[in-house]
Amino acid sequence: MKLNTEFKQNTAIISFTGIVLVLFLLIFEILISAESHKADAKLNIEAANYTAALKSKVDRELNALLFVSNGLSSYLTIYHRNLEQQKVQNLLADLYARTKNVRNLAVAVGYKITYMHPIKSNEKAIGIDYRQLPQQWPQVKAAIDSHQGVLVGPMDLVQGGKGLIYRYPVYINQAYWGLLSTVINSDAFFKSAFKELVNDEYAFAIRNKNTQEVFYGDPQLFNQAKVYLSTSDNTDVAWEWAVMQKTEKASHLILITRLMGIAIAVLIAALVYFFLRERKMLTALAMHDSLTGVANRRLLDIRLEQALAHAKRFNRNLALLFLDIDHFKQLNDTHGHDVGDALLKTIALRLKSSIRDIDTLSRISGDEFVIVLAELNDINAANSIASKIVHAFKDGVQVLGKRIDVSLSIGVAAYGRGSEESPQSLMKKADIALYQAKVAGRNQFKVYTEVEQKSLFDIT
Ligand code: GH3
Ligand code: MG
Repeated sequence: MKLNTEFKQNTAIISFTGIVLVLFLLIFEILISAESHKADAKLNIEAANYTAALKSKVDRELNALLFVSNGLSSYLTIYHRNLEQQKVQNLLADLYARTKNVRNLAVAVGYKITYMHPIKSNEKAIGIDYRQLPQQWPQVKAAIDSHQGVLVGPMDLVQGGKGLIYRYPVYINQAYWGLLSTVINSDAFFKSAFKELVNDEYAFAIRNKNTQEVFYGDPQLFNQAKVYLSTSDNTDVAWEWAVMQKTEKASHLILITRLMGIAIAVLIAALVYFFLRERKMLTALAMHDSLTGVANRRLLDIRLEQALAHAKRFNRNLALLFLDIDHFKQLNDTHGHDVGDALLKTIALRLKSSIRDIDTLSRISGDEFVIVLAELNDINAANSIASKIVHAFKDGVQVLGKRIDVSLSIGVAAYGRGSEESPQSLMKKADIALYQAKVAGRNQFKVYTEVEQKSLFDIT
């Protein structure tokens, strides 16, 4: 019973400690994830701002380039009736010189490329009819039909490399006249557009929304979990942007905070564990005799009440042994108090070894011990145990190097199945039986019986 209780108490302490640990881990995790969500939201806003800055820079750079088409368109609208080859070429050369990142400027009258700058390495393009270029014609036609400037790309250029193409249809008096094309060197364009905005804290990439082809930055960015994605439709083919703030510092901080949270939770759980164990030990001390370590009167009362209730509920037998050392006062006087104390300890040990774990041994005062024999199958077993105890001391005991002759008297009170008994009545009966053992000459046990009791009272 005692082992069982001990096991239950330890299990309860460990379980409670476990619950405290899990609870604190959970609390810290909730706090950390709330913080990390807040940090993510902040990063998202910052990434959105950075993206807006990048997009507007691209827009500004493009607008500067596309302004060229408007100027050229005005010129052509005014002078289309008497265009001179050389004048147009000079105009193209001048516009070209004023821009950066433009690969070439071309003017198609109708659908045929008629003027081009620079001519060098583009001669072959002169005279080409867009309708004969199956690759380009659908886009060219779409630009013409839209009646407005259309930016496409980046795309692979016939001349090599990648380029953005701005196609601007010229309508004169509502009738289509021709098409202006500005081919922009996309690599150089992005480089100069982002020059001032490139920031070590951010990584970004741009891809074509329809083809998913990444034309700027690291394609892997689009697969990252904490990336800010957005689209821009300043082109005929929409672009997708992936912007990510490099947050190693923040993620390290979260890792450190999480580790600290775990350490604090473990510390709190350890404190709880030691506190509960200490409390258990203090409670145990309050329930035990400080000299012998066996149960004291308080614990005996609890154990006896439990054992009796158990015996009644499960229809079992129980016995109470009241023990008192014979002439202990005299032993004290002869050998001294220290030997008396050591003797009490030795006797307690020997008594303990005579009973089972489920039984309770207690020291209730000076030289008085009480044993509760629980769950007895046979009520007579109590007599055998009492007899065994008496005999255990027949050769005396060895205490502090001295052999001491000592004997015990025992009173036995039994609770038989179904009988009416209370802890107090059992104690009283065992006490009476002990008295009888003393009267009968000590060093023996007596069992309480109603008959003897009557005769005893008759005598007194
Ligand atoms: P009896 O056979 O009638 O029991 O005689 P006794 O001398 O044992 O009488 P009693 O049981 O009344 O005496 C108990 C003695 O135990 C009295 C006291 O001197 C001694 N005593 C009580 N507490 C302690 C203790 O903690 N240590 C020691 N060494 N002796 C104690
Ligand atoms: Mg005594």
